[in-house]
Amino acid sequence: MKPRCKVCGAPAIIKKIVHHHPELDTLYCACNDMECGHTFVLNITFSHTLSPSAKTADKLFKAVVDGMNPQQRQMVMEFLQQPTA
Ligand SMILES: [Zn+2]
Repeated sequence: MKPRCKVCGAPAIIKKIVHHHPELDTLYCACNDMECGHTFVLNITFSHTLSPSAKTADKLFKAVVDGMNPQQRQMVMEFLQQPTA
């Protein structure tokens, strides 16, 4: 990400990033134009998911398996061992 100075439009440098939350970062920025010298703060927020993470699916699968009793686990194992047509 290349922030721009809101005053002069020159590229700015990110001096510090504070991760407040998985969906909110605060960027402390400084204008790269020596004659401007504007320093400012940007808040970057998560918007929305386009494609779900494979890691999320893995967590969901683990939660489901962890919640199964031994008979249910055996049923899943038998199902997985069946040859696919
Ligand atoms: Zn500037």
